[in-house]
Amino acid sequence: MHGFSYQHGSLHCEQVDLKELAATHGTPLYVYSGGTIIDHFKRLDAALGGVPHEIAYAVKANSNLSVLRLLVAQGAGFDIVSGGELFRVLKAGGDPAHCTFAGVGKTRGEIAYALDQGIYSFNVESEEELRALNQVAGEMGLVAPAAVRVNPNVDAKTHHYISTGKSGNKFGVDFEAIPDLYARAARDLPNIRLRGLQMHIGSQLTSVAPFIEAVDKVAPLVRQLKHAHDLEFWSIGGGIGIVYQNALDSGAAGWWQHRRPDELPLTIERYGRELVPRLAELGLKILLEPGRYLVGNAGVLVTRCLYEKKGVAKTFKIVDAGMNDLIRPALYQGYHEIVPLAQPATAARVVVDVVGPICESGDFFCQDRALPDFQPGECVALMSAGAYGFAMASNYNSRPLAAEVLVEGATATLVRQRQTLDDLIAGEL
Ligand SMILES: *Cc1c(COP(=O)(O)O)cnc(C)c1O
Repeated sequence: MHGFSYQHGSLHCEQVDLKELAATHGTPLYVYSGGTIIDHFKRLDAALGGVPHEIAYAVKANSNLSVLRLLVAQGAGFDIVSGGELFRVLKAGGDPAHCTFAGVGKTRGEIAYALDQGIYSFNVESEEELRALNQVAGEMGLVAPAAVRVNPNVDAKTHHYISTGKSGNKFGVDFEAIPDLYARAARDLPNIRLRGLQMHIGSQLTSVAPFIEAVDKVAPLVRQLKHAHDLEFWSIGGGIGIVYQNALDSGAAGWWQHRRPDELPLTIERYGRELVPRLAELGLKILLEPGRYLVGNAGVLVTRCLYEKKGVAKTFKIVDAGMNDLIRPALYQGYHEIVPLAQPATAARVVVDVVGPICESGDFFCQDRALPDFQPGECVALMSAGAYGFAMASNYNSRPLAAEVLVEGATATLVRQRQTLDDLIAGEL
């Protein structure tokens, strides 16, 4: 489910009218449905019920403190990729003992910070990093818990910018090199405690097949390492895809049921059904690192139409959100459904480009798409913008960052103020 639907002719998030939020807080405005995030967390938790597991939310998808607090309350762990994300998790009341630290380029400063906080595991992406971790831990008189990220060389069949599990990607250590690396670490690196193995093959996977392929390929390695090194966990990463097409229509009946046949054979139930039997027999704790699945469909970006420009070739709807607010379309051809806040009275459509104010031709949210007509002054919602939306926003073109609102039932809370012009230059000398 997701929390967005038309009620009395106006798009609501749970029981809150988005038109009123836009009037109160201005646009562009991110709005999140807390109920959707909790529902998705519980659904994934239930799907993995047959195996000891922990859900470590991938903070980079949406790192707003209030979103993190919601997940702390659900008992989530956290997968972080920087010292900054660890700082956020701690500020939100998260337990460092349930944090894993991913990423190919951890600095020594970040390593020391995370060691000092006592995180659960460093998910290490190269032998050099493992040696640096050993050294920093030694200097601090500590033993660092670690897992190596295996690159299983499996095709996730997703956009090439978000595919991470092929040997041509920068991520992880080659599958074949893992046993020797674990043996060398156990022998030569006294300040490392090998605690698990990690993998993550890509993001926005819309089929369960690559997950099965990766689990089947890596499971024998896990079994071997478990016995040799007494491992306690295997993280199978994140990457569970969500529906971007027809995101609104599918809300009422369950978003997975209205998928286009080519878009989403993956359901969370099928993910669990296929993977749990394969994982249960290993006798390890299974870690999951979902980002997009938990928050993607739980957020929208509300933006107001400023102008309509009819050219010879095209009609442009110019809106007040730009690629600095939501970069997914420009960065990896991400698709966002665009719906007016005022429910369209007819099925009439106009073919338009919806574009932002940024001085880049790549600054568009759709091209040549048939949409219900909307006029300057009216607002639309860019659906499914809860993941990799605000988290990727920038001040490009000296535009203040948007405000964020969290809705829980009939309550809407401003969880991040819109930046001011003074914020834009804070820190400049
Ligand atoms: C980005 C990332 C995730 C989360 O990916 P989603 O597609 O958002 O689920 C999980 N693990 C690692 C290591 C990542 O880099």
